[in-house]
Amino acid sequence: MYDYLIVGAGLFGAVFAHEATAAGKRCLVIDKRDHIAGNIYTEDVEGIAVHRYGAHIFHTNNKEVWDYVNRFAEFNRYTNSPVANYKGELYNMPFNMNTFNKMWGVITPAEAQAKIEEQRAAHYTENPQNLEEQAINLVGTDIYEKLVKGYTEKQWGRPCTALPAFIIKRLPVRFTFDNNYFNALYQGIPNEGYTALVANLLDGIEVRLNTDYLADRAALDALAKKVVYTGPIDAYFDYKLGALQYRSVRFETETLDMPNYQGNAVVNYTDSETPYTRIIEHKHFVFGSTEPGTKTVISREYSAEWKPGDEPYYPVNDEENGALYARYKELADAHSHVLFGGRLGEYKYYDMDRVIEVALARVRAELA
Ligand SMILES: Cc1cc2nc3c(=O)[nH]c(=O)nc-3n(C[C@H](O)[C@H](O)[C@H](O)COP(=O)(O)OP(=O)(O)OC[C@H]3O[C@@H](n4cnc5c(N)ncnc54)[C@H](O)[C@@H]3O)c2cc1C
Repeated sequence: MYDYLIVGAGLFGAVFAHEATAAGKRCLVIDKRDHIAGNIYTEDVEGIAVHRYGAHIFHTNNKEVWDYVNRFAEFNRYTNSPVANYKGELYNMPFNMNTFNKMWGVITPAEAQAKIEEQRAAHYTENPQNLEEQAINLVGTDIYEKLVKGYTEKQWGRPCTALPAFIIKRLPVRFTFDNNYFNALYQGIPNEGYTALVANLLDGIEVRLNTDYLADRAALDALAKKVVYTGPIDAYFDYKLGALQYRSVRFETETLDMPNYQGNAVVNYTDSETPYTRIIEHKHFVFGSTEPGTKTVISREYSAEWKPGDEPYYPVNDEENGALYARYKELADAHSHVLFGGRLGEYKYYDMDRVIEVALARVRAELA
């Protein structure tokens, strides 16, 4: 009945389905969740687009991808400029002249550079053995103590002295007054939320929600000539080589009776005492802080250890998991009727722009 059964209504599946349909192929998209859009899903709470699976900021240097997404959604001019809260002291991120002025009262780039150099030289370790020594070598003690240490320890769940040095290769410092977090030519958030963007990609395409491919594989396979699978690759093979590991995040979302909680979309808590790593205030992705409205929605983010059954968020980028994925990839390559794609199908951290790039390349190769 169908040319393609597309497992997963996330960004990869939706781009693939859109392009294949435009080329005259019949597609059926299924998802085990009760909504489309995968992890970029946004839902309306009190008129605010809430990012249920974590804050998503679209940014890219690829003009083709930027033009592509703008066909399906109108983007605002949101620029990510997080603020760090260290025990009530607020600093601009990424580390730039605003940060250095607040920290040391320095006025010029030369003064800021001298201050960092002085601290690096005083505490330099020849062969850094752990993340703490490495970070101090890179940015000196003050930035490390106030802006790196607590946040990193919460993210990894262990002290910086027990983390390997290689995790931090560089810590970007800017000697300009530029709070724009991303070095990207194009950046923004869809005005109507990401779910509307994905709905537009899937316009006119049959979608079945609450449908778990792995629970009914034979019957679903029989519906289509080929399968595009964007779920976890190890689950596809019944974990027969073992389970791939992930890092997880827990979100605690709350609606508050106030128009404006923190004045910014993203505030990082960089001390070690505050248990969460960030607070996201969703309305600021779209409105800016001056928009009226009596309520606001915030999400506190907690780093969490992942165990099988939890929502998989970030693939673990280490040797053990890389080797296991390579073995699953061999099995996948032998399945020529199934195309594995997306962050779970390829066990890879992908930003949204990369997912679109890869999905477009894969569907074009497929249809050529
Ligand atoms: C916390 C967090 C924050 C992020 N922030 C950003 C950001 O700011 N900017 C950015 O560019 N990128 C960001 N990303 C990356 C972004 O989320 C991904 O690029 C994108 O979601 C990948 O899309 P996908 O289609 O590959 O995967 P998904 O969105 O995960 O879609 C896969 C879909 O497959 C479905 N599925 C799985 N198994 C089955 C099954 N057996 N049967 C049926 N359906 C199934 C799932 O339910 C899911 O809907 C972030 C990621 C995380 C984890």
